[in-house]
Amino acid sequence: MRYDDSPPPPESASSVSPDPPWYTRRSTLAVAAAALAPTALAGWVLTQVLTGSGPGGQPPQPKALPASHTAGAGAHGAGDAKASTATPSPAASTSASASASAPAAPAKGPLAGRTVVIDPGHNTGNFKHTSEIDRQVDIGTNRKECDTTGTTTNSGYMEAEFTLDVSRRTRTLLESKGAKVVFTHDADRPWGPCIDERARIGNEAKADAVVSVHADGVSAGNRGFHIILPATVKGGAADTSKIVGPSRDLGERIAGNFARSTGSAPANYLGSGTGLVVRDDLGGLNLSTRPKVFIECGNMRDAKDAAQLTSPEWRQKAAEGITNGIVGFLGG
Ligand code: ZN
Repeated sequence: MRYDDSPPPPESASSVSPDPPWYTRRSTLAVAAAALAPTALAGWVLTQVLTGSGPGGQPPQPKALPASHTAGAGAHGAGDAKASTATPSPAASTSASASASAPAAPAKGPLAGRTVVIDPGHNTGNFKHTSEIDRQVDIGTNRKECDTTGTTTNSGYMEAEFTLDVSRRTRTLLESKGAKVVFTHDADRPWGPCIDERARIGNEAKADAVVSVHADGVSAGNRGFHIILPATVKGGAADTSKIVGPSRDLGERIAGNFARSTGSAPANYLGSGTGLVVRDDLGGLNLSTRPKVFIECGNMRDAKDAAQLTSPEWRQKAAEGITNGIVGFLGG
């Protein structure tokens, strides 16, 4: 429940977008089928991702893979992934010092020339710096705490550890596809950064896409993932009018690919089963001028979700889903 901004009341009607959910824009046939069999949602989401390529109007994949677990094959960028991960990427193997002395070879891959900012939610050191992270910062429309500690599983696995691990796995995958990846922090600072600085890093990097990685902390029985999209807000330094549309596209693509890659269903406790929620109270979104979403990968306080979140193999699938969504969004 502890986002890096405080959460809204669950299912707050005002925070849910009136726009049609992402799945309705993909296939009316599928929607009709889903209406007849709502319990088949998870499998249906997977099928949607495997058979359609989203709102961009691209042609469907030539062959649909079975809806049983197919992580690592099919959907956006799968062919590229196999090709590009077979050889080390220049971006992944070039250190900062090396690039200072010799120009790096041009990046290759579907994301060459693209910049992606990954924001690992919270910081494992925040617990020890409560006065610093409790400081109020301006988010344009309001003032909020600089940052929060994040949640933990019942056994003590910290959300901040989870977000950093998934972010690093995502970075490796994105770099293998040629992207330049910028982190908001990489366990290289004792706390934070504050939410306004997290947004500013994406803005100053002129990121083509920004993803803030989180896991939720709500009561047991609440399960699944959701993507948080920016609402249209304007006030002070906040103006999301130009990013609402592309951020939704980014979020829809990550939702579909995340479901396919991990086998997880959209959250059963908010978002009306779409896996998408629109919020106007998150500084990290309000202050962004670049397409940006948050992903809540699961509920750390639910034992079944926690079993997934604490699994390195599952976290790799999560990173693959996030990566494939970004690749789809950026047209790779
Ligand atoms: Zn969080």
